[in-house]
Amino acid sequence: MEKFRLARLSKEERREFYQSKYDYYSSFNTRMVVVSVLAYLTFFFTDCGIFGRFAYETLLSRTIVIIPFLGYLFLTRRTKDYRIMVTCSYLMIHIIIWCTDWATYLLPDRQFAIAGMIIMNLIFVCAGFAAPFSYSMIAHIFLIVDIAVANIFIQYDELQMMYMFNIPCIVAVGAMHHMMQGVYLEQYLTKNKLENLIVHDQLTEVHNRNILKGLSDGNTGELIRFAGVDVSMLLIDIDFFKKVNDTYGHEAGDKVLIYLTRILKNIVRGTDYVIRWGGEEFLIIMPGCTEEQAFRVAEKIREKVELSDNGICKVTISVGVAPYKGGDYHIAIKNADDALYKAKGSGRNKVVLYEAT
Ligand code: GH3
Ligand code: MG
Ligand code: MG
Repeated sequence: MEKFRLARLSKEERREFYQSKYDYYSSFNTRMVVVSVLAYLTFFFTDCGIFGRFAYETLLSRTIVIIPFLGYLFLTRRTKDYRIMVTCSYLMIHIIIWCTDWATYLLPDRQFAIAGMIIMNLIFVCAGFAAPFSYSMIAHIFLIVDIAVANIFIQYDELQMMYMFNIPCIVAVGAMHHMMQGVYLEQYLTKNKLENLIVHDQLTEVHNRNILKGLSDGNTGELIRFAGVDVSMLLIDIDFFKKVNDTYGHEAGDKVLIYLTRILKNIVRGTDYVIRWGGEEFLIIMPGCTEEQAFRVAEKIREKVELSDNGICKVTISVGVAPYKGGDYHIAIKNADDALYKAKGSGRNKVVLYEAT
């Protein structure tokens, strides 16, 4: 079985992976922070239990957490960037820890401090779902710094035990996060592979029709991806392709198709979409390209196909060119098809520009 490794991804791909991980768990992450803050607030009642009365001493240290929490909620609506949101989630957790230290400092009995700190590890477990492993490790190890700094003021009776309970928790949670990240990576790469398969033709490896669903509005058929720029379309059909199959066999025909797509991909720009529209028909969507420019590119392709040696036999193509003028993209394809029909009717091996009548 293929091993999924994060190190095999480029820096950019890794960033996309972490963003996807955050996106997938973001609502869980926000709820985790909400629940943590609510749980923290309810600890005021624990304080009252310890004091045996209304614990006005710790009221501020318990409620002040609401201020950064509101800031956090505001930010969740403003940004989806995992680097900002994961950092802020961990900051929120550390604010809860700092406020816990403050409340502990004010309590008459500190024997529950160890239990309180261990509970914090539960929050770190939950926060790790949405976070890159390195973020979760750094944030969690910082718990040790929190304890050391808090000890300056609180003077824990059992500081050593505080470390001895928390360090194994940090190691265990770290190992768990590492495994969880591996599981998500496997799921993420499989999902990407499947998404890729759905929008690509298996024979020629160019896009298939499904790619248009991602480029257009499902209701209106508008090409939303290319709003505000000229878009042109080429519809390409191999001339007398049936004869190629009949003479040289279907497999040879397949090789001709693959060879043609190689020419198409070499000539068009990286921003253009080469789509296998049907059997031996290809659609090219050219954003940022006027119909005159598209016509010139089509002519170049036609000439290249005519002059190239595909190793099987000489083939030619006919091309219909049409501009996309907004609205349903099917209209532009229909216009390109009309132009293609004219190219076929006027002797093939031709490029025809659609003319509105
Ligand atoms: P025209 O110049 O009018 O386009 O003639 P044509 O023979 O190319 O047109 P027609 O539409 O009659 O034939 C298309 C042929 O393409 C028929 C079909 O066998 C072949 N074809 C479709 N898909 C594939 C494929 O995946 N591989 C191969 N080898 N042939 C295919
Ligand atoms: Mg055809
Ligand atoms: Mg044909």
